[in-house]
Amino acid sequence: APLVAARDLVKSYGRTPALRGACLEVGEGEIVAVTGASGSGKSTLLHCLAGIVRPDGGTVTYDGKRVDLLPEDRLSELRRTDFGVMFQFGQLIPELTAVDNVALPLMLAGTARGAAQERAEEWLERFGVREQKDLCPGELSGGQEQRVALARALVTGPRVVFADEPTGALDSLAGEQVMTALVGAARASGAAVLLITHDAKVAAYADREVRLRDGAVVGAEVSA
Ligand code: ADP
Ligand code: ADP
Repeated sequence: APLVAARDLVKSYGRTPALRGACLEVGEGEIVAVTGASGSGKSTLLHCLAGIVRPDGGTVTYDGKRVDLLPEDRLSELRRTDFGVMFQFGQLIPELTAVDNVALPLMLAGTARGAAQERAEEWLERFGVREQKDLCPGELSGGQEQRVALARALVTGPRVVFADEPTGALDSLAGEQVMTALVGAARASGAAVLLITHDAKVAAYADREVRLRDGAVVGAEVSA
């Protein structure tokens, strides 16, 4: 069975349809890229799978559980324990240093501050941004910020990482560094990744690419 599965997802915002019957499966440890034109429903699909947005119709399952039916408190717990999320920008808390941003998910899960900071530093080191640990997000370059965000997404050991255009605001070198870090860490931990991108070079890091058009998957799924 797939780890994550969306079947026949339908979602509208008011009268604007975002998803019209989208289906997608992600296997354990699999890296899947979702591509498609702006407005084709990529973000909405990711948000439905990650339990951030509830679909109007269809089903979302994770590890055998119906995510679309979970009550709000169980959803936030699932997101905290099993999912890591990363966006294009603006995801770090501006008032907190890099190390505090990365330590936060651990502290929310009950880890003591000292131990959380130690683990956060190890992840910053791994992604080459330990020297920046006491800087706030506004003092980091775009690439450094995304590597800190990646550390924050991975520090709790999620089974699925949801990444919405993680390299969208970066130049190609910084984008490659983020993708190498993301894919390397996912392979090492066995985490699955669902990645949205409009960049073919970024999609090439995935095992498989799924293309959306007008809220549904088009064409055959192409193996990398
Ligand atoms: P509309 O009434 O315009 O179709 P909704 O009431 O479904 O829209 O959603 C309003 C906003 O709240 C949207 O941004 C939607 O993504 C978000 N939303 C809806 N349900 C949930 C949920 N269970 N968890 C988080 N966000 C949600
Ligand atoms: P993509 O990620 O492929 O650009 P989205 O899922 O963001 O696509 O958007 C799909 C459609 O839903 C678009 O027409 C978009 O304008 C609309 N949409 C997305 N989010 C919202 C929202 N929170 N409120 C209203 N319309 C939205």
